[in-house]
Amino acid sequence: MGSNEAINIFSKLSINLLIQSYLNHKIGLIMEKLNVKKTRKLDLCVSCEICSAVCPENSIIMEYDFGQFLPKVDDENVQSVGFA
Ligand code: SF4
Repeated sequence: MGSNEAINIFSKLSINLLIQSYLNHKIGLIMEKLNVKKTRKLDLCVSCEICSAVCPENSIIMEYDFGQFLPKVDDENVQSVGFA
């Protein structure tokens, strides 16, 4: 496999993860107000790490659990931003 092919596969996987994450959250918002904890509990998380990247309080870390990186919310540090 050449490097261009590997880059193409990686790009497609990244785009698929973003689309999956977007759809998970949209579906969740339709069904009920979804947050990071509910997303993890309902096994909808695709480990995109967007929640961790955008958290203004740096209260969401990604932890390795059962073969997947999943978000963990620091309840002591978290403010009521609304999505954690
Ligand atoms: S990593 Fe965070 S933003 Fe991405 S799917 Fe999981 S809960 Fe949602």
